[in-house]
Amino acid sequence: MATGDTPDMIRWETAIAELLALYCRLDEEIRPFAQNCRADGNCCRFEPDGPMLYLTAIEAAAMVFSGRSVESASIGQPISALSSRPCPFLDGCRCGIRKYRAIGCRTFFCNPKWENERQRLHEDYLIETRLIENRVQISSFYLPLHEALGEIKNLLPPKWKLSFQSKGHNAF
Ligand code: SF4
Ligand code: SF4
Repeated sequence: MATGDTPDMIRWETAIAELLALYCRLDEEIRPFAQNCRADGNCCRFEPDGPMLYLTAIEAAAMVFSGRSVESASIGQPISALSSRPCPFLDGCRCGIRKYRAIGCRTFFCNPKWENERQRLHEDYLIETRLIENRVQISSFYLPLHEALGEIKNLLPPKWKLSFQSKGHNAF
């Protein structure tokens, strides 16, 4: 916490600190069920006929909090408007914000083995994000990735260095 932080900023920073602790717990729990990944990044490209990542507000805020700057015309667009929809944080085959990646990123594996266990963890931990949002009293949503990143820009405190750029959105 820095001098001059507003109550709004303190709430978001508290929420993100709690979320990062939650991510650490999830990583430990998911470890036995997270095997045989080739790390080719295909599940982060979100082909139109495949699954899409959805984010809660706090998960989207953490992605911004990563400080990673991205430029993508897809940010803020509804999923129905996107013909190509790779994650804007994908660097080649690697996640560019690994520490800040979302619950869906941490629990998805294309190998169907242990799908039930991973799905259970996904649902349990999403509930925990809701509990943080309620406890710290920050906004809530659950939106497709690109739409969520556009929406969070409107909710975060202005002092935060907002680092996403896209057509139709000012630089964060
Ligand atoms: S989970 Fe599957 S699609 Fe995703 S990076 Fe690993 S091997 Fe590739
Ligand atoms: S945040 Fe990282 S792991 Fe999640 S979809 Fe984007 S590139 Fe993939």
